[in-house]
Amino acid sequence: MSELAERFETHDPGEKLVAEKIRCDACPVMCYIADGRTGACDRYGNAGGRIVRVDPLTILDHAAETGGTVVPFVADGEAWVGELVNTGRRFVTAIGAGTTYPDYKPAPFIVSQQVEGVDLVTVVTEGIFSYCGVKVKIDTDRHIGPETAIVRAQGEAIGHVTTGEYGSQMLSLGGVHHLTGGSKAEGRATCDALLNLCNRKPVELTIDGGATIIVEAGKPPVIDGKQEHRMRVGCGSATIGMFATQWRGLVDEVVVVDDHITGVVSEHQAGKVLGWQDTGIKIIGRRSTPGRYFKVSEPGLGWGGTSISDPLSILGEWNAKKGARPGLSLLMVSTTGEQFAYYELDDELKPVEKPFPERLQKSVNLIEDNCEPALCTVLFIGGAGGSLRAGVTENPVNLTRSVQGLKTYVTVGGAPVYVWPGGGITLMVDVTRVPEGGFGYVPTPALVAPIEFTLRRDDYVRLGGYEAEIRSVEDIVAKGGEYLNPRQGTGAPSYNPWPPLAQLRRAASNGTE
Ligand code: SF4
Repeated sequence: MSELAERFETHDPGEKLVAEKIRCDACPVMCYIADGRTGACDRYGNAGGRIVRVDPLTILDHAAETGGTVVPFVADGEAWVGELVNTGRRFVTAIGAGTTYPDYKPAPFIVSQQVEGVDLVTVVTEGIFSYCGVKVKIDTDRHIGPETAIVRAQGEAIGHVTTGEYGSQMLSLGGVHHLTGGSKAEGRATCDALLNLCNRKPVELTIDGGATIIVEAGKPPVIDGKQEHRMRVGCGSATIGMFATQWRGLVDEVVVVDDHITGVVSEHQAGKVLGWQDTGIKIIGRRSTPGRYFKVSEPGLGWGGTSISDPLSILGEWNAKKGARPGLSLLMVSTTGEQFAYYELDDELKPVEKPFPERLQKSVNLIEDNCEPALCTVLFIGGAGGSLRAGVTENPVNLTRSVQGLKTYVTVGGAPVYVWPGGGITLMVDVTRVPEGGFGYVPTPALVAPIEFTLRRDDYVRLGGYEAEIRSVEDIVAKGGEYLNPRQGTGAPSYNPWPPLAQLRRAASNGTE
């Protein structure tokens, strides 16, 4: 992006129109673009004196549902012959559609389609999101940094560590304050990181007082140079509950080491119920309830997300009066089953490591087998505001009400979204469900995301939609739109449902507004 941004610097928005340059009006930057060149965002160019959208308009074919090869419907300037893909179950995404900016005009494509006897309209536009960011879930127990610690990309602050979730660490990145509220460098680094994360590219992030992580949506995280493989099966207490029966009769004591709750089977409720004998073990940590200990160590990159590499460091003196005896056997294991060790107490009641016995291998393997693969998940979050809604209806608040009333189904590049309750249209989408390269940017800086609104045609007309602008899918495939770009088809991924008829039928029958 920096190279593009530098190029943008040469495009003075206030520059007078010169003969060979024309102005792009698709965002507030208003680049003047010479023939054969693209503007600052690389999404629009000047082709023979016309502003064109450089990328093709992407149309999903739901009958194919392959998620596979892209099929060009028509090359720029050629007539469409109509035979390549015409399944009647197509979805015009906003990828390559162009934008409604600057507010006064209808969305680039307002598409009608009859699906199973229902007349539907899909309003398609590439939204410019000044208010946007990503929530990142990193499946790991390792300590990546303290909560609220600053997260940096290219040395600039772009977000922070937020509250951890079960088996995962969470980051909140981007947002309007990092995009536009700080220095120019901070805004550019934030936009660059968000764009790459949303387009499923790897991004290196450093956390103040914590780790350096490579995050790539749908891929395992790489933490301080080490790739994470598994997320934990559960906390130490849950692991005890799940596997206590497997260990019974095979070993006298089991400690599951975990940064959150370290579990001890002989004291734990599960062990008690199963009749486990006391062992006189002593855990150094804060006892929560029997057999469940907080804070056995500082968080870190060691066993079970603690900082320890020697699990014996969390044990105190063994108490003979409470069951400790020479020869007592002890299994210590982490919550992913990646680290494990076996000990027996000597005559001084000191644990001595012994070769790991075959009889316990199965249970350790079972912990590992029950761990899911560790992945990075990136959710784009953005607020659909003024220009975007005005491109759908002359009375923008009607769109918000229709979305909130479940009469309008929102998608991002055909992917289903979660719309937050309450005011506005604040949505979240899993970027791995959006076709690749679906996100763009403008150097204001802001992210560009495809967004589609699908609703019944009668509802669309009622909420003040641009009825005169409605076109058929066939017409759009054949003629394209204002920005003269080609259309391309691709098999829709089977996990993105279309059409959302069930929801739209329900909304119609309960009369929600
Ligand atoms: S940054 Fe892109 S969208 Fe904005 S005016 Fe320039 S070419 Fe057009």
